[in-house]
This record gives sequence, C-alpha cells and structure tokens, in this order.
Amino acid sequence: MLRTHTCGELSLEHVNQEVVLCGWVQRVRDKGGMIWLDLRDRYGITQLLFEEGKTQANVLETARSLGREFVISTKGVVIERLSKNDKIATGSIEIRVTELNVLNPAKLPPFLIEDETDGGDDIRMKYRYLDLRRNIVRKNLQLRHQVARHTRAYLDDLDFIEVETPVLIKSTPEGARDFVVPSRMNPGEFYALPQSPQTFKQLLMVAGFDRYYQIVKCFRDEDLRADRQPEFTQIDCEMSFVTQEDVLNTFEGLVRNLFSKVKNFDLPEVPRMTYADAMRLYGSDKPDIRFEMQFAELKGESQDLTSGKGFGVFDDAELVVGICAPDCAVYTRKQLDELTDWLKRPQIGAKGLIYVRYNTDGSLKSSVDKFYAEEDIKKWAEALNAKPGDLILILSGAADKARKQLNELRLEMGSRLGLRDPNVYRALWVLDFPLLEYGEAENRWFAMHHPFTSPKPEDIQLLDENLGAVRANAYDMVINGVEVGGGSVRIFEKELQKKMFGILGFSEEEAQEQFGFLMNAFEFGAPPHAGIAFGFDRLCSIFGGADSIRDFIAFPKNNSGRDVMIDSPSLISEVQMKELSIKSEIV
Ligand code: ASP
Repeated sequence: MLRTHTCGELSLEHVNQEVVLCGWVQRVRDKGGMIWLDLRDRYGITQLLFEEGKTQANVLETARSLGREFVISTKGVVIERLSKNDKIATGSIEIRVTELNVLNPAKLPPFLIEDETDGGDDIRMKYRYLDLRRNIVRKNLQLRHQVARHTRAYLDDLDFIEVETPVLIKSTPEGARDFVVPSRMNPGEFYALPQSPQTFKQLLMVAGFDRYYQIVKCFRDEDLRADRQPEFTQIDCEMSFVTQEDVLNTFEGLVRNLFSKVKNFDLPEVPRMTYADAMRLYGSDKPDIRFEMQFAELKGESQDLTSGKGFGVFDDAELVVGICAPDCAVYTRKQLDELTDWLKRPQIGAKGLIYVRYNTDGSLKSSVDKFYAEEDIKKWAEALNAKPGDLILILSGAADKARKQLNELRLEMGSRLGLRDPNVYRALWVLDFPLLEYGEAENRWFAMHHPFTSPKPEDIQLLDENLGAVRANAYDMVINGVEVGGGSVRIFEKELQKKMFGILGFSEEEAQEQFGFLMNAFEFGAPPHAGIAFGFDRLCSIFGGADSIRDFIAFPKNNSGRDVMIDSPSLISEVQMKELSIKSEIV
C-alpha cells in the first residue's frame, strides 16, 4: 500500500512512529516560519507540520507550492500537538514531515470542499465527484450503506434469498410511464425498464422460492420532485404461505431493527389505522402521527352541528370539518388573516377559513358569531375536545377537497407549533385501502395499488355490486407523514386475476397479451403470497433527517431528469439510430 495509516487513525499512542499518509490537501496555513497543512481522506483529517530550520528546504518549498485538493503522499514522525483540537479524532497529534510528494496536482475546485460550501446545487451536481468529497455528502452514502447492510442481515436471518430480476422487460400499461429501450435484434420492438420487479417476484413465489428480497433499481418516467428520481431503489420483498398479518409483523420488525441499528432509536410499536379512518381523522392516507390534532366533522355522515342557522357556506357544504390548535386562541386577527391567505393560495385553494377562539376565560369568539349562538359553538368545541386557550379552525365544502385542505392546514399548524420534531419518529401502518379508484378523466377504474392486489375476501362479492366499496388487502407504512413502503396480499388464482383485468378495462386478449405469462403461471400451482416494497432512498433520507432523496444517491439526476455531470440524456449517432431501425422526428 502507498500508506501506512489513514488520515483518521493516528493518536497519542502513535507518537514517535514514522508513518506514511496519502490524501487531499484540505487547507494550508502558512505562518512564515511554520506551515500547517490539513490532509484529508475518507477517514478524517490529519495535521502536517513543516517548520523552517527543522524541515528540509526542498520539502518546505513543495509544501508552499501546494493548492487545495492536490493529492499528496507524505512521510513523517507522529508528534504530540501543543494546542490540541478536540473536535477531530486526530486532534492530539500532528506529523512532522520529512518527505512530501505530489501525486497529482489539482485545479482550483469550482466550490469549497467544506461542510459549509459556497457552491449552488447546479455546480455541485455538475462536479458531483467533488461534492462527494464533502464530509456531509459522503456520510449520507455511508448511512445508505449501513441501511443496506442491516437490511440484508435482517432478511438473511429470516431465510429470505436475494434474487436478481431482469432490467430489460416488457412494457405494460398499468402504473406510471415506462422508460423504453429499443431492441436492435428485434427491429421496431422495445424493452421497458421495470417500474418494480412485481411480476417477477410473484413468479419466484410460483417457483417455490418462498421468501425473496432484492435491493433493486426501479424506473418510472414521472414528473420529478425532491423525493422522486427517475431511477430509484426499492427493498423489494415477497413471501409465500403468509397472511397480511405475517407481512406486517415481519417488516415492522425490519424497520424497527433498522432504526435501532442505524439510528440507535427505539421505534415504538407501529400502530395500525384503516385507510377510511386515516382519511376521516387526518384527511390523508399518510398522516403524520407525531402529533394529534385530529379532525372532527361538525357536519358529515354522523352529525350536523352547523346547518339551518342561515350560514349558507356551511348549509351548502357536503362536509364541515375542523381541527383544534392547542394554545392558539391568542392568535391575532392579523395572524388569522395571514393563515387564511396561506390557505387561499392556488396550491391549496381553500375559499376561506372559519375560526373559533376558545378564550382562557371560557368564552367562545368565532368569525361566524352573526349566525351561531354561543350554545351552538359550544357543541363544536365539544366535538373537537377543545380546551380554554385553544383555537378551532374550520373548513368546509366538498368532502374530499375540504379534507385535503384541512390536512395541509393541520401539517402547517403542526410545524408552526413545533410538533413535528425531526428527532422523533412515529411509524404507522395504513390498512384496507380501496382496491380501485375511478379516473374521471379516463372514465374507468384504476387499481389503487396495482392490478395484482387481492380484494379482501369478505369484499369479493362487491366486485359485482359496488366497485368503489371494495377494500384491498393492501398496506402502506408511513413514517412521520412520509409513505416509505407499501404492498399487498396478491391474487393467486387465474380466474380472479382475469376478472380484475376485465374490471380495469382490458379485453380478454389484451390481458392475455400483456399478462398471460403471469396468469398462465397461476395454472401451475401458485401458492398464496404477499409482499411489500420499501423506498430505499426515502428510508435513507428519513434516517438522515433530510427531505430530499437526492442527497442519498451517489449520482442523482436533476429536476428535468438530467444527469448534468455526464450530460445525459443525449443524442445518439446516426449509425446507432440506423442499427436500431429508428428514425427520430422531434414533434
Ligand atoms: N411492487 C409494488 C410497488 O412498487 C410493491 C409491492 O406491492 O410489493 O409499489
């Protein structure tokens, strides 16, 4: 090896040893008679010392010629430092240099390779290999490695086997848009990149593998956001001869194990909530349960505490629903106006906000006092379990819309009140999702999870009566309001699978053409099976306390799906196009 030690490992016990270190020049401080140099590698920083009179002149000269990020090797003796730095592991020692070699000079980097950098997003993406030299970025990828390692260890212990599934597969019409790859050997035909290995893992169950997992790349051609990349990684799993309960327990175990191993955090047992309750109590299928502030319906299916008092907005509304913000009765008119404007922004689109201050003296003061007597409003306060000092915030309108808007308001109030502590983690299973959702624009039913998801056995007869009411044996895991994983018990009988494709608008021929391989497999002895996939990048970003998954991907793409470092996607040559039998015409 070119070195005897790394830059993170020397301490007082090495004093007087001669060592050879290699690394990058982090910083040089030239104080005339003395030069200090911080040498950096993946493991840490070690201080080198050059001293006029004690260090050979040619070595001193080389030291003075060094710039940031030069790659050097150096020999020297470990000595105790006079002024110690307890912020770094090697802070008690330094190296009195005897030899210094420049292995490779470096151009001045386009941004500071420090935790606090002056580089903007674009430049750091372009020079990602330099950004990856920064401690905080590298640490994210080390954390990712830990999450992968402990995932494998946990699943290996439970007899799961990792099987690789193909990356060049068949384009299918369900789900997101596919990325496609032209086939040279089959002119005019295309492979698709997998949105997930879903059908393959099911076929592995038919093959008798019993327990499968894979940490696997998936590809979806969707519009991008901070938590989405066109290629991303899943922890993909499937099990045979299990019930939903087995899957939930196995993977709650995985997640709790990861929290304990990676974060040293004891994740509480994961509570469960039906989709219907999640929507009713939080207006979201991924509620953040670090804080309460549950919805109460003042006018809804079970009661009506608002109609018939002359307030048209509530009279006309399908749903009147509120939350109670603790200790916020002190909110001024200005603050409430500002909150109302926040809700009226096009991103949320509320028409207005009704509020009730439950003053500490017990009096109730609302923005609709003209229409409602204190007696009426008292009933609202009771429905919301409000206490003196609280502020009640109420939205109304079409049920779905009002719930969605109140979900935004709840999260905003949670943030404002400091109830969404990033160091606290609360996971939740959301169960019993609807099997289907209706696409108004397309005028047909879509699978809410995917077409292979099994209806709840007790709801199967509803497939012929009321499609919207059929619940699925499908589940999501949500952590701090972020969906981190989801899966389902699968259909494993050909006839039911065929029926499902029919409901989704496939003709029998289309279903056979697209998914015949799976339905045929079901005729050769398919075991009952169920599974789940976790968003691996997302899990990592949660462990790392960041919103964006990009920070946890070594070479991510930007919001337009470009890799600006290698400049991709790019045009291909005429020759390649010809070989692929492709003519390009940008329309
Ligand atoms: N393949 C599914 C997905 O990517 C997960 C699953 O059902 O296991 O969402």
